[in-house]
Amino acid sequence: MKTFYHSTRGKDDLVTSKQAIRAGLAPDGGLYVSDRLGEDRLDPRDLADRSFHDSARWVLGRLLGDYSTEEIDECVRAAYAGNFDTPAVVPLSRLGQGWLLELHHGPTCAFKDIALQILPHLMLKARSGDEEDVMIVTATSGDTGKAALAGFAGVAGCGVTVFYPEGKVSDIQHLQMATQAGSNVAVCGIEGTFDDAQGQVKRIFADAQLARRLAERNVRLSSANSINIGRLAPQVSYYLDAYAQLLRAGAIAAGDEVDFCVPTGNFGDVLAGYFAKRMGLPVGRLIVASNSNKVLTDFIGTGIYDRRREFVKTISPSMDILVSSNLERLLYYLADGDCEQVARLMSDLEEKGCYRLPQALHERLRESFDAGFASDEETRSTIRRSWEDEHVLIDPHTAVARCVQERIAGGGHQRVCLSTANPYKFSADVLEALGKDPQGGDGFACMDRLQELTGVGAPSQLSFLRDAPILHDSLCAKGEMTHFVERACARAFK
Ligand SMILES: *Cc1c(COP(=O)(O)O)cnc(C)c1O
Repeated sequence: MKTFYHSTRGKDDLVTSKQAIRAGLAPDGGLYVSDRLGEDRLDPRDLADRSFHDSARWVLGRLLGDYSTEEIDECVRAAYAGNFDTPAVVPLSRLGQGWLLELHHGPTCAFKDIALQILPHLMLKARSGDEEDVMIVTATSGDTGKAALAGFAGVAGCGVTVFYPEGKVSDIQHLQMATQAGSNVAVCGIEGTFDDAQGQVKRIFADAQLARRLAERNVRLSSANSINIGRLAPQVSYYLDAYAQLLRAGAIAAGDEVDFCVPTGNFGDVLAGYFAKRMGLPVGRLIVASNSNKVLTDFIGTGIYDRRREFVKTISPSMDILVSSNLERLLYYLADGDCEQVARLMSDLEEKGCYRLPQALHERLRESFDAGFASDEETRSTIRRSWEDEHVLIDPHTAVARCVQERIAGGGHQRVCLSTANPYKFSADVLEALGKDPQGGDGFACMDRLQELTGVGAPSQLSFLRDAPILHDSLCAKGEMTHFVERACARAFK
């Protein structure tokens, strides 16, 4: 059955899920949503026998209804068979009283691989036959960039351009991007923050003149950020798979509710958990964990979203975000599809830098979500405690989530903390958390010391970067990003 999508800000233009994936963002600046979310409900009893691949096929079949069963099957196989360093794809392990869902076993060691390994395949199958080329333009706070590069490098008919905030990503994250090979890839640091980069990328998507110039060359732009429904949909799969693993471990019976705690930036990961809930997964609380950029903690607490605050650079850089784009999708569903209301809130955010949720919506938000934040100091002590007490090495993003989860009282449910990155991506900060001075060493020196100290092996996906040549060193100002994209198109699509 076809699944139609429309903008969060208006229902006049309906598109198929394939068109929504090709476009990324709706033309009016809204995000694509479907009113069929939750129409086919999951029976949790069916989950026990399902593999990750089975859950991915089920979820994508529901959310992306105009792909055929064969197409989805091919995409799932191409993305998940062989590209992850464990056959489970997303293994669940114990951590203290709770569980850790390890989402970082892909080629770039961050959870973004789960969506970005499959998005290029979904994108290719969405081609309308006119052989139009697609340039992916993405702003990254550190992990999306490399995951998008790894997913799209060498994919025919696609190119990828990544902008990252210069000096605000970890050494290893920077190297991961700077060493990416491929004739269809471009990487550029910008002066400013992730929000600056993301804001400018949104303007590039809305630039009609640019779109016209590119169309003359048969090129269109699209997004690999979680504003693209093709990024969000695959992430729903691992919530189902976590539940399936808990069933198989005998930790829950079918139907029992499970809480999830999610380290959050752009609100994509935790929104996927909300989608899973709407689709019938017995999800109890969704805990939104933030670092000191705690816009979401304040928002969920008070109903007021206020981005007018100082940006804080933290040791969990992938969550250093003040404008969480995917919240717009949640608002749409909380408001029962009232596009006008969503458009009003978003224009307040754009013009005033803040908005206040009507009370009814705030109450509905609180029915599913809790929130909290952890400072860098608390993050460090959580890394240290997890190592000293349980011998589990976790990265700063995961530690933010664990710290917040422990602070919020549970209702007796099993609790799963999403582990979003491998600790070796952030070796210097993890070393420091364990009480060792990184001594100004580079990413690899820190990696070696962390390995010696803990005996936990660094993943080969990261250690091999040591010998990889630097291929990208471009920097530009915000105002030059459009030009950079055009040049990248000229190079990728000769
Ligand atoms: C991107 C990222 C996050 C935040 O995820 P969102 O979907 O943006 O909320 C958390 N942790 C890590 C390691 C990430 O790369």
